[in-house]
Amino acid sequence: RLYNEVIELKGNIRVFCRCRPLSESETANGFASVVNFESSSENELQVVCSDSSKKQFKFDHVFRPGDNQEAVFSQTKPIATSVLDGFNVCIFAYGQTGTGKTFTMEGTPEERGVNYRTLEELFRISEERKGVMKYELHVSMLEVYNEKIRDLLVENSAQPTKKLEIKQAAEGTQEVPGLVEACVHGTEDVWELLKTGNRVRSVGSTSANELSSRSHCLLRVTVIGESLINGQKTRSHLWLVDLAGSERVGKTEAEGERLKESQFINKSLSALGDVISALASKASHIPYRNSKLTHILQSSLGGDCKTLMFVQVSPSSADLGETLCSLNFASRVR
Ligand code: ADP
Ligand code: MG
Repeated sequence: RLYNEVIELKGNIRVFCRCRPLSESETANGFASVVNFESSSENELQVVCSDSSKKQFKFDHVFRPGDNQEAVFSQTKPIATSVLDGFNVCIFAYGQTGTGKTFTMEGTPEERGVNYRTLEELFRISEERKGVMKYELHVSMLEVYNEKIRDLLVENSAQPTKKLEIKQAAEGTQEVPGLVEACVHGTEDVWELLKTGNRVRSVGSTSANELSSRSHCLLRVTVIGESLINGQKTRSHLWLVDLAGSERVGKTEAEGERLKESQFINKSLSALGDVISALASKASHIPYRNSKLTHILQSSLGGDCKTLMFVQVSPSSADLGETLCSLNFASRVR
């Protein structure tokens, strides 16, 4: 590694669970919390099932409804910033729509999420290391919807669905030829790009929120590092991924376009689960090629790459079924 200050992590795959607070409307509608954190352990949670039985789940860390963005970032920071040491990193937010995936990753202007805080930290550390390392940061933003890849930094209303393909590069890495890589010098640059990306993403859709629940949004930070001591160069990627909603679509509502979408979502989320659990169990074959999502991330998943998955859940009794599904999914990948 180029830089010596590498933070030692226990393993390469981490799973954090985050439970959002019960919303005002849930409370007003008489829904109560079925998730509790009575255990003294910081990494466990309990779900009270409809027959009053209790299911216990354990993760690398569990964030409770009262934990703020800063608390979440303090645990995420070592993993995210290891991209500056030449590691490839993937951070995912998984869960049912409405559980806080976008809140965790993107956040709000008042309560910034992982994406903004990470970039801020990357700029701060590169400044701190400027005597020994020279860093160049590029940002790309793309969407995977119905197994098609779209560049969100191409603002062209006449051609809103420019299709991109994944190509195998010579060194065995996956590239997306034609994908915009914008050079960024500070958080203001990044903020502008995110605004562009979100604007492009919503083109042609009636409701931004509805569309976002059915597509995966990927922010890629490319770090090119050069040691000023020996001239050695590295190129690594940090992927910050806000996944499509994991909820199962009821049989009656699933027709036509909606059915196709939900099949694509199921396929890619289960492909992601399969890849991560194959990596966790050190399987000899890792099924990257089963979806666009895992294929595009291939060179950033596995090997000495670092993976972090946020499993987002709702505390509400109304969401019990989906909460159990998400927690079971996450337990499988851990
Ligand atoms: P998703 O992206 O999973 O569909 P959102 O991030 O849009 O979910 O969150 C749904 C709503 O819940 C938003 O209004 C969001 O601000 C709120 N929310 C989510 N997580 C939290 C949290 N930890 N604390 C406070 N509000 C939250
Ligand atoms: Mg969202």
